[in-house]
Amino acid sequence: MASTIIDPVLTPAKTIDGKTPKRQDVPKSESLCDYCTAKCCRYFAMPIEEPTSDQDFDFMRWYLLHDRASVFVEDEVWYLLVHTACKHLQSDHRCGIYYTRPQICRSYSTENCEFDEDAVYEMYFETAEQVAEYSEARFCGDGDSIRSPEPPLLPLLN
Ligand code: SF4
Ligand code: SF4
Repeated sequence: MASTIIDPVLTPAKTIDGKTPKRQDVPKSESLCDYCTAKCCRYFAMPIEEPTSDQDFDFMRWYLLHDRASVFVEDEVWYLLVHTACKHLQSDHRCGIYYTRPQICRSYSTENCEFDEDAVYEMYFETAEQVAEYSEARFCGDGDSIRSPEPPLLPLLN
């Protein structure tokens, strides 16, 4: 049975039997957003050029030295992702400037949104160390391999 809870903590306004339902279990007559904690208002992502050089990856390292920044790749496009809530998001997970919200918010629909938590990125970097490791593996030249060199073969005994 649906119930209504308004809570500044990350609890959706509505739940079903005390839990966040699966997308398909939300009644068609209701808004999916009422069962969500406004996940789409808690980050922004910008496409960035695909890093192709050591220097590009060094920039990426710099992004990720900042709190709440990550980088992901989806459909071969690289994005800088910043996990930060919109200033106009209210404690009931509703938009405080609904009638004047930006076009990008108006265009966003529940159809392919992140209500469900089963999305998987092609690649996802959370730390500068992950970027350094990836860049090293991709760009180190012959003789600079991050792998340990193969040990010499043991001599054959007669
Ligand atoms: S569009 Fe999707 S992610 Fe955004 S508030 Fe609605 S259900 Fe949540
Ligand atoms: S303006 Fe409103 S809809 Fe857009 S991100 Fe902010 S709270 Fe969400």
